[in-house]
Amino acid sequence: MPTTPSHREKTRDELLRLIRTGGGMTRADLARSSGMSRSAVNGAVATLLAEGRITEVETEQKGPGTGSGRPGVKLVAIGGPVAGLDFGHNHLHVAIADTFGRIVGDRRVDIDVDLAATEAMDAAADLLEGLRRELGLDSVEAVVAGIPGPVDVRTGLVQSPTILSGWVGRSPAEELTRRIGVPVHVENDAALGAMGELYAGAGRSHEHFLYVKASHGIGAALVLGGALYRGGTGLAGEIGHTNLPGSTELCRCGSRGCLEAVVSVDYIREQVAHTHPGLAAEEIPLDDDADSVSRRILEDSGRILGRVISVLCNLVNPTAVVVGGELGSSNNCFVEGVDEAVQRYTLPAAAEELVVTRAELGTSAELRGAIELAVRSPVPAYGAGASH
Ligand SMILES: [Zn+2]
Repeated sequence: MPTTPSHREKTRDELLRLIRTGGGMTRADLARSSGMSRSAVNGAVATLLAEGRITEVETEQKGPGTGSGRPGVKLVAIGGPVAGLDFGHNHLHVAIADTFGRIVGDRRVDIDVDLAATEAMDAAADLLEGLRRELGLDSVEAVVAGIPGPVDVRTGLVQSPTILSGWVGRSPAEELTRRIGVPVHVENDAALGAMGELYAGAGRSHEHFLYVKASHGIGAALVLGGALYRGGTGLAGEIGHTNLPGSTELCRCGSRGCLEAVVSVDYIREQVAHTHPGLAAEEIPLDDDADSVSRRILEDSGRILGRVISVLCNLVNPTAVVVGGELGSSNNCFVEGVDEAVQRYTLPAAAEELVVTRAELGTSAELRGAIELAVRSPVPAYGAGASH
């Protein structure tokens, strides 16, 4: 996938989405719904037909009372079901969607993903196979997976020994493809969260935005000019290990004072446990039922994150910051803290047009992004025989 799709590719993607969600549309319908010119629509439709993503269906357009109808040509999407896999640091979420991207079934398990790559990939293949059988599907056509660490865009290898140590030097795309028997495309999880929000969430109305996954770690992804920006090797957006001046907390990466050592679900739970004696950390609500002490801790954590994000805002001048992950979806206080610091530390002229908002898709953004990419991927159909 290109890092900077041309205007023509974006037109193609948008029309494909309309054809999928519309069920069947004429060229005139597409021009009306998209606001694009007839020539732009015709060009993109020709591309989609050549790619085998859509087909033409002859229809008799007989409206009520019209008598003799004129034959029309409707465009319909081709393709079977697809799957998305979302590997978090501590969970695995698998879903199958139809050709329109509508999820028809999903499974979620808690599992140690960071240190047990083989077990996590085995579990993903088993869950997907079980779900496919349960849904009575012969095959899935494409699979997109997200992992909570950077993937080298040149080699497909997990490259950072400090972020996802149990996966380093491995190629999850190759290994998952071998287990599942269908080509699997692998992305960083925050990148998929950004794609989910771009196609189906808060990013729909923004050409340039930052997506931040604030959960057990902090990951970010940049959408610039309507396309995902991965950087030279795929490390763009790895802000979790930004050093915070004055902070000495030990981070899982071996360094001290990293952003995600103090802004993470685990660290916040430790803090709220301290102020709630007698309650287990995981019993204390961090959602809209959170009490005033927990809300203060959430807001303060949001401010720490927002200050780091403001540096990115000054650098790339986005029009939105979309905050997802467990913390972004937990409680408005966290995002309000992010907003306050972003507004305070971003250059006023850049902050003026900038909105900071919760991810519309919540903790489902990553899985949704995987599905959205899978329905767009020009991957040929293969048999679904799992070969593990
Ligand atoms: Zn670190």
